Amino acid sequence: MCCCGTKNQTETKQSVTDVVCGMQVDPATAGAAEYRGKSYFFCGAGCKRSFEANPAEYASSQTAVERAGTSDKLTGKQIG
Ligand SMILES: [Zn+2]
Repeated sequence: MCCCGTKNQTETKQSVTDVVCGMQVDPATAGAAEYRGKSYFFCGAGCKRSFEANPAEYASSQTAVERAGTSDKLTGKQIG
């Protein structure tokens, strides 16, 4: 007898940020590259190649993106 339930599949879909274009990508399907022991994921071969051409720039820009997001919240105006 089959024990496979329909709810057996747990949704563990996680998304990571493509450091080149900033897109959210699924690590299961995204292209991956390793840099300094860390894995980076990309929406496509183009972004992967851009990263591999200059990994240091993109790896460090990850923090810059986070800081930009924080400052964006600071400038948010109250609505209503
Ligand atoms: Zn991309």
